[in-house]
Amino acid sequence: MSTTAQAWPGVIEQYAQYLPVSDATPRVTLLEGNTPLIPSVTLAKRLGEGVELYFKFEGLNPTGSFKDRGMTMAISKAVEEGATCTICASTGNTSAAAAAYSARAGIQSVVLIPDGYVALGKLAQALAYGARTIAVEGHFDACLRLVREISENYPVELVNSLNPYRLQGQKTAAFEVCDWLGRAPDYHALPVGNAGNITSYWMGYGEYHEAGMAESRPKMLGFQAAGSAPIVLGERVDKPETLATAIRIGNPARWEEAICALDESDGCIRAVTDEEIVEAYTELSSVEGVFCEPASAASWAGLKQLAGEGFFAGQECTVVATLTGHGLKDPDRAVAIATEPDKAPDDVDTIVKMLGL
Ligand SMILES: *Cc1c(COP(=O)(O)O)cnc(C)c1O
Repeated sequence: MSTTAQAWPGVIEQYAQYLPVSDATPRVTLLEGNTPLIPSVTLAKRLGEGVELYFKFEGLNPTGSFKDRGMTMAISKAVEEGATCTICASTGNTSAAAAAYSARAGIQSVVLIPDGYVALGKLAQALAYGARTIAVEGHFDACLRLVREISENYPVELVNSLNPYRLQGQKTAAFEVCDWLGRAPDYHALPVGNAGNITSYWMGYGEYHEAGMAESRPKMLGFQAAGSAPIVLGERVDKPETLATAIRIGNPARWEEAICALDESDGCIRAVTDEEIVEAYTELSSVEGVFCEPASAASWAGLKQLAGEGFFAGQECTVVATLTGHGLKDPDRAVAIATEPDKAPDDVDTIVKMLGL
């Protein structure tokens, strides 16, 4: 007789004891979570001799980003409370997740996105999952202001990162890291936009530590894009710019919480340039075989920047870098950055010659 492995039930069911849910809470799930912690085979060496590096590849969630963890919670709670329509502002991944989980729950979704600044794959998702999608003339911050006002005055449930259940769902990624490693890492690196994710991880590590599931907590390392680095600069950025659209945010919703996470963990937050992001993005896919979206590559870009200053020198440590979203989210960027494919006729000799074989 063969034995059947216990099927992964999604993050709410898996970690119910750590979440604000009861038996009465519906589980609106696409079996998100349980994403792999991929060991780096090549790039880790660049950080230092004693560094073990892992990529928490969140691109392998059902809609291709970590936003699914928060959205399974937010939509489940919204349905529990009787909501029939959700609304969110998004740089793309939140809207993809909100649209998918709303469809799953059989309720309406509305998404407001900054016109012209959402990657093609993400826009395709919102539309495919059937969200009422509105492209607003303005930045993400304007979209957020609008959905806030609308949700305060009309019967629609706000599922942005202001929604507290989002952070609750997202903290499960920290549990998974500890479960896979058997301990907490020494450092955890993340891209920072609205700062919900860094806040969630810190919450998750703290709760696991308190529950006796991990002996220590990591130092949190946050990385913002240089053109939209309000937390690094200590002031709002009115015109955030970066090709990493998922972190193109000038006034983070979880700014204070992020500062707390950085202070309490004795971590740090840095800015990485778009050039550094593009280099990191290319390395992750072409050297390590892990294709993430540009914003996600800020994690690796930032780690390299720190290593360049001798940060990891002489340290024996474990570093986890979250790669927040899948590379296929932003196919235009991938093609624009790469060199164009060479053209050839339908002829073996020509192709063999081109390949130098
Ligand atoms: C949302 C998002 C981020 C930023 O996360 P915050 O919680 O807003 O800091 C980074 N990368 C990707 C791919 C995202 O979708």
